[in-house]
Amino acid sequence: MENNLIDSTMQSRINNIRQQIQTLRKDDQHVLLVAVSKTCPIEQIELAYNFGIKDFGENKVNELLNKIQSTSLPINWHFIGHLQTNKVKYIVGKVVLIHSVDSIKLLQEIEKESKKKNIESEVLLQINVSGEKTKYGFKIDEINDIINISKNLFYTKIVGLMTMAPFEADTESLKDIFNRLHEKFIDMSREKSDNINMKILSMGMSGDYKEAILSGSNCVRIGSYIFKG
Ligand SMILES: *Cc1c(COP(=O)(O)O)cnc(C)c1O
Repeated sequence: MENNLIDSTMQSRINNIRQQIQTLRKDDQHVLLVAVSKTCPIEQIELAYNFGIKDFGENKVNELLNKIQSTSLPINWHFIGHLQTNKVKYIVGKVVLIHSVDSIKLLQEIEKESKKKNIESEVLLQINVSGEKTKYGFKIDEINDIINISKNLFYTKIVGLMTMAPFEADTESLKDIFNRLHEKFIDMSREKSDNINMKILSMGMSGDYKEAILSGSNCVRIGSYIFKG
């Protein structure tokens, strides 16, 4: 009885998010819903999977590896947290996308491990739009330089940008942050080269996904709303 109650509320929250996405998205844009399952037990993940979510985001390498080992479901895993270079080797080849590339050193390490495994890794550049000192990420002004450096990479593809807005931002500053990154994303997507193809703009979490989608996000990372209600 109680289990049924829990199941149906998770399902209704997932349906609700999906509906919001349909309503808010620009021009029938496809918006990828990544369920952020950090700290959630694998049973909760499998439940959400059964409600149709195929993409899950984790922010700790050890936790991610444990979860990969403990399920047989063909989940698309996303890495969304700060990644130390010495842990890159454990996740390259196991995740569909690393959202959180925040240094050139990290980019080079991903290239090295992808080459070793002879696979292609897709990554996003994490951008600290508002310049908060406590956050990881490149500044908007640095993007062009990073892209230029990345033209020498062969195994690592930059496929977009990611940002996290400050927790305390009001609606106006959220709009400003998301619009600024969207504008940059559109500029960059006109420039194509072999290993750069801007297609994913990852912005929006439980508290600000509506503003993010209205500003053109095509990938939201939703944790607490799905798993904690
Ligand atoms: C935790 C986390 C999220 C999800 O946040 P919620 O507020 O729980 O939806 C999204 N992105 C990143 C990078 C996170 O660490």
